[in-house]
Amino acid sequence: MEECLNARSGAELANSIAARAGVKLHECYQCGKCTAGCPMAHAMDLMPRQLVRYMQLGRMEEILGSKSVWLCASCHTCVERCPHSIDIPSLMELSRQAAKARGRVGVKTVDMFSGIFMQNVKMFGKSHEALMEGVYNVTTGRFMQDMENVPHMLKNKMVGIEPHTTNNPEEIKALIERALEMGGEDA
Ligand code: SF4
Ligand code: SF4
Repeated sequence: MEECLNARSGAELANSIAARAGVKLHECYQCGKCTAGCPMAHAMDLMPRQLVRYMQLGRMEEILGSKSVWLCASCHTCVERCPHSIDIPSLMELSRQAAKARGRVGVKTVDMFSGIFMQNVKMFGKSHEALMEGVYNVTTGRFMQDMENVPHMLKNKMVGIEPHTTNNPEEIKALIERALEMGGEDA
């Protein structure tokens, strides 16, 4: 069920997200250096600079409905380039969580991949790439996606068929569940 935000609740959510990310929104003066260096900007519908501007204005509707919050690769290039080191990836991530909590998923395949990845890590304590890729391809119906890379990756031991686990996967699972609970508290 989608929940629409009015101006007041939008501003409250923007301020809450900024506080959790440790960002002072007023410090952004819209120079655009973040957008200029973002490797995902070509695919985004809301540029990193615009995301901060919309947050300054409390216009969370545009942010929650965007694809950008799902496409940010958390590479931190924007943070490095920003004169005020504004933590845009955290703003993106927290906005993504807020969008999902309201039933909005801008890029379904990213959400599916994320879910499969987390299940995988919960099960093995670390990522089992071959299984993850297989489950993702079957779930999305993209059966042959990236299959051309498999022989090369197997040959060079970049991925393996055998499952590999940490000593205590249950510990990792408990950590992830706790982190998800904490992440969802203010979403
Ligand atoms: S680089 Fe920093 S100050 Fe410049 S637009 Fe981006 S977030 Fe704002
Ligand atoms: S962290 Fe996200 S917004 Fe920032 S440069 Fe990387 S992909 Fe772009």
